[in-house]
Amino acid sequence: MDFALNESQIMIQQMVRDFAQNELAPVAAELDQEGRFPHEIIEKMAGLDLFALPFSEEYGGTGDGYLPYVIAVEEISRACASTGITYAAHCSIGTGPVYLFGSEEQKQKWVVPCAKGEMLAAFGLTEPDAGSDASGTKTTAALEGDQWVLNGTKCFITNASHAKIAVITAVTEPGQGARGISSFLVPTDTPGFSVSPPYDKLGLKASDTAEIVLDDVRIPEENLIGKRGEGFKQFLKVLDGGRISIGALAVGIAQASLDAALAYAKERKQFGQPISKFQAIQFKLADMATQVELARLGVHRAAWLKDHGKPFTRESAMAKLHASEVAVKAALEAIQIFGGYGYIKEYPVERYLRDAKLMEIGEGTSEIQRLVIARQLGC
Ligand SMILES: Cc1cc2nc3c(=O)[nH]c(=O)nc-3n(C[C@H](O)[C@H](O)[C@H](O)COP(=O)(O)OP(=O)(O)OC[C@H]3O[C@@H](n4cnc5c(N)ncnc54)[C@H](O)[C@@H]3O)c2cc1C
Repeated sequence: MDFALNESQIMIQQMVRDFAQNELAPVAAELDQEGRFPHEIIEKMAGLDLFALPFSEEYGGTGDGYLPYVIAVEEISRACASTGITYAAHCSIGTGPVYLFGSEEQKQKWVVPCAKGEMLAAFGLTEPDAGSDASGTKTTAALEGDQWVLNGTKCFITNASHAKIAVITAVTEPGQGARGISSFLVPTDTPGFSVSPPYDKLGLKASDTAEIVLDDVRIPEENLIGKRGEGFKQFLKVLDGGRISIGALAVGIAQASLDAALAYAKERKQFGQPISKFQAIQFKLADMATQVELARLGVHRAAWLKDHGKPFTRESAMAKLHASEVAVKAALEAIQIFGGYGYIKEYPVERYLRDAKLMEIGEGTSEIQRLVIARQLGC
């Protein structure tokens, strides 16, 4: 059993950490306050080949694998979770479905530019009436001649306003529930594809989340991903991978909370000494450090299983569930350690709490993760 990252993984971690701490962390508060999508940062990340990490070389990737990718997600999110979710949604759920289930032609056409960071991808699964229960999808796709015609609404879609391509799930076999859902590659400049103004969110304010409306959107027949009726099975697998990256995002936020709280505790003096000398504060920091470390191990293990072609549904749900709860708790404790200053926007920890909360909701709520884990236990 070897828990050590190899030389190349350490190099990637150091490279992303340097970039994130030097170029992203200093602007993260401003991006949050302005709710501004950081195009320039995304371009730099593409220049560093970060979008290529999880994909194989034949499709424009670096072939490094999922573990180096989640390490990068953690480092980016430690600096700015908004950028972390933009990155994770693009790689894992936006590009992932085509990479995993697309034809050779689809992969060459779409995965290659996505891996090179030349375009952003989005994943449209959630609908106003179909969230946790995605089998209730109402968006339809009907084959007319050699074109699919899509109609429906997708809500809460990350990267929707900036993506060039969206993977959209839709019912092709009405009345067949989960077995009647298929997934499609939809170029976002197709007539009838429109995006609402972005939602005003609690956190992750520099990420883009918007509603997609599909009004008689016509796409070529060959834009079906895999076979008709396989969309539900596909997105369950896609979400297994996506959850590992949400876990990594959560670890990044939790680590940032610990970093900020530790530094502040050493600096802030009350009763004539730094508050880090009080055992009550030390115990909080010790608990945070322990939880962050264990959450990271869970995320790395799930990614390792995925990279080694082993089953990882249970482990990815556990990693996401645990890491997201650790992130919320760590951010709350960081605010407590900052005292009144923690409640003030001048300091970063209130942003960490607002950003962390989404980790317990996106790509399956904590309740749904528990359902997945219980099912894996044979319940
Ligand atoms: C910022 C943001 C980004 C997002 N990005 C994307 C994206 O890129 N693509 C995409 O497709 N979606 C995206 N989502 C949607 C997200 O995945 C859903 O919000 C999430 O899956 C929950 O669905 P819902 O909001 O409809 O909640 P609901 O399903 O209505 O759940 C409401 C509550 O009921 C609970 N609940 C539901 N069913 C059960 C059950 N069986 N047992 C116990 N409790 C249950 C839930 O846990 C939750 O607490 C995003 C959401 C946000 C806020």
